[in-house]
Amino acid sequence: MDLPRIFTIRESGHRIHDPFTAAKFAALGEALRLPAGSRVLDLASGSGEMLCTWAHDLGFTGTGVDISTLFTEQARARAVELGVADQVTFVHGDAAGYVMDEPVDVAACVGATWIGDGVAGTVELLSRSLRPGGIVLIGEPYWRRMPANQATAEACHATSVADFSPLHGLIEQFGALGYDVVEMVLANQDDWDRYTAAQWLTMRRWLDQNPDDELATEVRAELTSEPARYTRYLREYLGWGVFALMKR
Ligand code: SAH
Repeated sequence: MDLPRIFTIRESGHRIHDPFTAAKFAALGEALRLPAGSRVLDLASGSGEMLCTWAHDLGFTGTGVDISTLFTEQARARAVELGVADQVTFVHGDAAGYVMDEPVDVAACVGATWIGDGVAGTVELLSRSLRPGGIVLIGEPYWRRMPANQATAEACHATSVADFSPLHGLIEQFGALGYDVVEMVLANQDDWDRYTAAQWLTMRRWLDQNPDDELATEVRAELTSEPARYTRYLREYLGWGVFALMKR
């Protein structure tokens, strides 16, 4: 059980595996206006940057669950580095179906709603770990511009236009699920660049050091085509944000 290696090659230099910067995660944490000691569950916690920095800056405690061995190790190391290893726990495992024994104040899935088979299922999964009056956090893409056709959607790494909604559609979907959207922090195109463009240098250096690796041909092809494709399509069409929800 692990994340395919192509992801860890591309993102080995990343602390945040989403189009969010450290500043955006800090803004989101502060925006929740919760006291020190608040408990957070983070499903698909990646390298743990959100939980570790919130523990350090805001005094939160938390549990992260992620399927990547490498990212989970990095999360544990980051907790030690920031001096918060007694406040956060990182579990290596499948987050699909993961429910806390003790309800939490904040239940998050930032950039991995496939674990609940989409937005609705992930909100439902998170709600099973949440105390009454707690906050659900969902990190999810949306269309900044609607793709005119299937090819454009695929160029944005979507399977079809229907994968995502425009921003107002996503907000309406949360409402239809019975939740108030009580906060949101959105990524801008510069944030997307920190996530995506930063992968290109990582890939180039990896290629220089691993020319005979079985994935070298795939990584080479991607590095050759991705910068132009990204700037033409994904950077223009796809937005991303984290939405804070409370049940009505
Ligand atoms: N929330 C993190 C990571 C987002 S990237 C951040 O913002 O940095 C998506 C993450 O989902 C990766 O870390 C990947 O390992 C994890 N993942 C994918 N499928 C998963 C599953 N079924 N269970 C747990 N984690 C999963």
